[in-house]
Amino acid sequence: MPYCHGDELADTYATARENGYGFFASNVVQFDIMVGLLRGALDADADLVLQVSRDACAFYGDGDASAGLRAFGSYVENLAESKSVNVFLNVDHVHLPDQRSFLDDVVASGVPSSVMVDASDRPFEENVECTREAVKAVRDGPEELLVEAELGRVAGEENGVETSPNEAFYTDPDDAVRFVERTDVDLLAVSVGTQHGVASGRDLDVRPDVADEVNTALHEAGHDVPLVVHGSSGVADEQVAEFLDAGVCKFNKNTRYQYEFARTAADFYRDHADAIRPPEETAADRNSFFADDEWSPDKTYFHPHVVGDEIRDRLAEVMVDLAELTGCAGRSRTTDVHDDE
Ligand SMILES: [Zn+2]
Repeated sequence: MPYCHGDELADTYATARENGYGFFASNVVQFDIMVGLLRGALDADADLVLQVSRDACAFYGDGDASAGLRAFGSYVENLAESKSVNVFLNVDHVHLPDQRSFLDDVVASGVPSSVMVDASDRPFEENVECTREAVKAVRDGPEELLVEAELGRVAGEENGVETSPNEAFYTDPDDAVRFVERTDVDLLAVSVGTQHGVASGRDLDVRPDVADEVNTALHEAGHDVPLVVHGSSGVADEQVAEFLDAGVCKFNKNTRYQYEFARTAADFYRDHADAIRPPEETAADRNSFFADDEWSPDKTYFHPHVVGDEIRDRLAEVMVDLAELTGCAGRSRTTDVHDDE
């Protein structure tokens, strides 16, 4: 059963924290990205945490996010079935309260292993109320599903919600304890100076020490809550290790994969432009498929599976590197799961 629900994901995060490793939770905005990440997870013998935002679900459902989530979930579940690593699916950033009805669809779908609800742009009390109510709705649902929520504000744009660097702030450790006690969330996303989207060239003040203070405060109050860092594009490799030490076991990553997709496709079509674009003297008559000309496009290059495979291989390489960086490579728990059955 390599596609797993919340109970197995809770064990996976707990084991990771005990042993000082973690996971990049990978946003999937296009199917070749997902298949490539899965190839990489298999190469690395690492369990895989995928995630989809509501916008990505809407893309898969051509405007219908709920249908898109069910379709995507079915694809992932069937693909993962025969694989030798565990695959989990998180629904990322369900914004509260305005996307509350989508949360009902997420819960009813029985698809994901976890869901992130986000009212972090609201005042503390309202964030608590929205999150607490969401946790209750999820726990009343048909499947075991972990809930992640966020305290503090991460800069950048996410699902149409824009937070400027001036509005962003670091998570307060005492607030984190109060938030966890009042909401009973399973995972806590903390604001530590990272930014959603492309962060290179920005002067980010990324603070693993803030995560460490939050983790210590939670621990001293008797709570065992895995921490999450969003916007990992601006996190240096050595800071990943510091965050792992500070109790972070989930690093959200999205923009890097989008770039790898576009870059691989751009390079491929540039390198093989002559096989796809007609020469200048050829009439650009696509409708007749250049029937009246000597020249014809080369299917070896324009078949979408060819560039798709290039993209999958590139994403697989990226996933192997990331699994080694967070230490989950070589640690797939499929064997443990099967032993229990
Ligand atoms: Zn995020």
